[in-house]
Amino acid sequence: MSVATESNLKTGLFIDGAFASAASGKTFETTNPATGESLAHVAEAGREDLDRAVAAARKAFESGPWAAMKPRQRGRILLRAADLLASRADAFGRVETLDNGKPIFESAKIDVPAAAECLSYFGESADKLYGDTFPSRNDALLMTLREPIGVVGAITPWNFPLLQAMWKIAPALALGNAVVLKPASVTPLTALLFAEVLAEAGLPPGAFNVVPGPGATVGAAMAEHPDIDKISFTGETETGKSILRAAAGTLKRVSMELGGKSPNVVFADADLEAAARGAINAIFYGKGELCSAGSRLLVEESVHDALIEKVVERARKMSPADPLDPKTRLGSLVSEKQRDNVARYVESGKSEGAKLVAGGNRAAVGGKGAFFEATVFDGVTPEMTIAREEIFGPVLSTLTFKDEADAVTVGNSTIYGLAAAVWSRDIKKALRTAKALKAGTVWINTYNFYDPGLPFGGYKQSGFGRERGHYALEAYTEVKSVWVDLS
Ligand code: NAD
Repeated sequence: MSVATESNLKTGLFIDGAFASAASGKTFETTNPATGESLAHVAEAGREDLDRAVAAARKAFESGPWAAMKPRQRGRILLRAADLLASRADAFGRVETLDNGKPIFESAKIDVPAAAECLSYFGESADKLYGDTFPSRNDALLMTLREPIGVVGAITPWNFPLLQAMWKIAPALALGNAVVLKPASVTPLTALLFAEVLAEAGLPPGAFNVVPGPGATVGAAMAEHPDIDKISFTGETETGKSILRAAAGTLKRVSMELGGKSPNVVFADADLEAAARGAINAIFYGKGELCSAGSRLLVEESVHDALIEKVVERARKMSPADPLDPKTRLGSLVSEKQRDNVARYVESGKSEGAKLVAGGNRAAVGGKGAFFEATVFDGVTPEMTIAREEIFGPVLSTLTFKDEADAVTVGNSTIYGLAAAVWSRDIKKALRTAKALKAGTVWINTYNFYDPGLPFGGYKQSGFGRERGHYALEAYTEVKSVWVDLS
């Protein structure tokens, strides 16, 4: 797919309500990983452009129409944007799929509608974050106000380019902040398209800006920028640590949504058919390039053979295919580089003694693309690299456990704590295990369901802060205490 046939792409920086070239004139190429073909050349922001975007955001936040707007007016803009986005789900889905390699079924039918739903949720919430009053004195009225933080720098990854950005943009704007977004360099296109939607919905200039470019330059400059008040980051744990260090210089507010190595625990009394289906969805949705991927399947010993047989049978049917075909359920990995990382992990699994029972190879569709087979390892032990490190690809590591206590020990034997799942017909056991697992989200008898009202975020090195729901509204506000003398 070439630039010429995707005529609706936006390729400039989006600053102060308009698309523009970078001050340096530099651009970078974004490609379709399923074909290797060029999609577009996108303006590459440098320090000067970032400063301009931050200044526009600051101005919008401090003065002008955005600052003057009533919360409900802000909400209406977001609701209009949600409707526009939903009505363009197919077009947005197509661009997301071309840029990321994910199946069009996921991008057009799930990710983009979920992004629109997130916008509606926060549009409706714009005037619903309340302060408190404190009845502790007769001679004074004590209360709190919730105020927007200011200029929010959002730095996002490539796996859910639009949806991850929306989890930040929607609550931040709903509360009256101004946003500067830096999308991942490999997938910048839907963020730029969305800038146009917000403008069309009536968002005043400067309230939302997009500065595509490399993390090491633009991202790092945002983290230490003296006029950005908060960084909201989603990405790798190591990148998060580097951003935290850079943000320390100005004591910015920071929230961190980082990596995961989530345990998917199947007890012997589970519905094994449903658990097998869930295990497949947990690891192969989004090609396994999912922070919350159920990348460790933990099976009770007595049902190991029965479950693994069902999982392998299903995995073998999941052939990588053209992401633009609506029937495809396993697309292309995001890049050749990512595919090489995944292949290295598969080699390490084999050399450390795990048993490869499905997939394990690079694949091509029409002779092209960064595809990788749906891969399942059995006989994995907790100390193996493929049980400890986030692979971020379609590779499942199967481990066994003896009993409930062992399931919890193995489940928690990771530096991460983003998500987990428990499959059992015994509700007490399922709930005990859910409580004992150290993870920000635990599903019971299902996997990979999300709601804009339900908070999402990590324990341990999966980060801190929560996105979505009223936690997100709090994350984009400061608390001001007001003391009114009545004496
Ligand atoms: P990444 O950390 O490489 O990049 C994320 C973003 O940070 C990109 O925009 C990148 O350009 C930028 N960046 C890179 N170096 C930077 C620096 N030094 N300073 C500032 N910004 C910098 O992550 P990725 O490869 O794009 O995404 C995959 C990772 O994201 C995985 O680890 C995954 O688990 C994680 N993730 C977490 C969640 C969550 O909600 N917890 C959701 C999605 C993805």
